[in-house]
Amino acid sequence: MTASQTTPAAATAPLSGSIDMKEYGHYANSLPIVAARYQDAAVQVDWQVLDTLESAEFPLLWLLDHCACDACRHPQTYERTQFILDLDPAVLETAPAISVEDGHLSLTWADGHLSRFDAGWLYQLRPHQQAWQPCIVPANVAWAEDFAPHRTNFSDYMAGGSARLEWLHALCRDGFAILQNGPHEGGEIDQVAATIGPIRATNFGGRFEVFSKPKPNNAAYTALGLELHTDLTNWKNPPDIQMLYCLANSAQGGESIFADGVAVAEALRAQDPEAFRLLAETAIDCRFADEETDIVTRATVIHLDENDQVIEVRFNNWLRDSLRLPPEQIMPWYRAYLAFWKILRSPRYRLDLRLAAGEMVAFDNRRVMHGRKSFDPQTGHRHLQGCYVDYDMVESALRVTARKGCAAEGEYPHSA
Ligand SMILES: [Zn+2]
Repeated sequence: MTASQTTPAAATAPLSGSIDMKEYGHYANSLPIVAARYQDAAVQVDWQVLDTLESAEFPLLWLLDHCACDACRHPQTYERTQFILDLDPAVLETAPAISVEDGHLSLTWADGHLSRFDAGWLYQLRPHQQAWQPCIVPANVAWAEDFAPHRTNFSDYMAGGSARLEWLHALCRDGFAILQNGPHEGGEIDQVAATIGPIRATNFGGRFEVFSKPKPNNAAYTALGLELHTDLTNWKNPPDIQMLYCLANSAQGGESIFADGVAVAEALRAQDPEAFRLLAETAIDCRFADEETDIVTRATVIHLDENDQVIEVRFNNWLRDSLRLPPEQIMPWYRAYLAFWKILRSPRYRLDLRLAAGEMVAFDNRRVMHGRKSFDPQTGHRHLQGCYVDYDMVESALRVTARKGCAAEGEYPHSA
């Protein structure tokens, strides 16, 4: 290894220009790099942030792996085209020549390859900066007792911009959001889905109609009340976001009911930790079968992530199949399931909503349970159009909308 090299401190004027790092996201809004030096197979970089120097260390291999030159990243697709497995190891055993130009970092490697790094891009990726999130998608927030869903006018949402951004943000955070004052001619739901992504089809088709049918194969197509549930718990990968657009709701009854599975599961964890643990650890069978279809999976009612946070609830009493558990688990499981259900029935966790024609609810079916009160089809018309879209496409729409320059103040972790 050669001796370390230090550049003299550059002026601390704000950055003019940026280096193209071949990314679509915002990054070029940092303070300039003032110095950089080689140390132990890494480059230590200093930024002047107000009165203090902020430093971060980047291993040489990381830097070379992130070179954004046209040879290392495809100029059109921006995808990585360089493979670090094929690098000449000698390049990493020699300190690169380091320089700071216009506040950005340049490295000239032993083989003559030049890598340039934007100061703001590098600042966002400081390895010790674990709080930094690579996207603006918010974490789940459990509904509080006075939860009031985010509402946006249909026309404002369709116009795009900050109204759409805030609606998508609320949908990711709360698992729930409403569009209102839309037309009610039919098919509007297709326009909303088109702003997000393709409709996710299931054994009930793509777009579905909810009204009472003469020969129903599913409780939704009757006039019966529907207990709170999540849809298609019998699928290994149940649909994510459900959208229901109301075209008519003049029948007596038929109010929609919702409950946040995260809030209910957290209440169970607080009141009855043993029941919570059983529902999070014990998989049960879920099944839908009719003349043409037979879809089965085995899954837990509560799903936790690696930090023990509730990320999904599967609760559907129609799709719960015969209970197959070892004898000693049967009664404890029933006790836990009924404890969850009892909390779910409590008004504290319920959001009652009478959908008006021209209103659309969107909710995260992996988290938020939905249901309805019974209605009397003799007293009027009740007609909803529904479809599912994938959560990945909702996050994508959120990022792309934000990228178009309308991210709310403070959404980006670094906006010096
Ligand atoms: Zn390169």
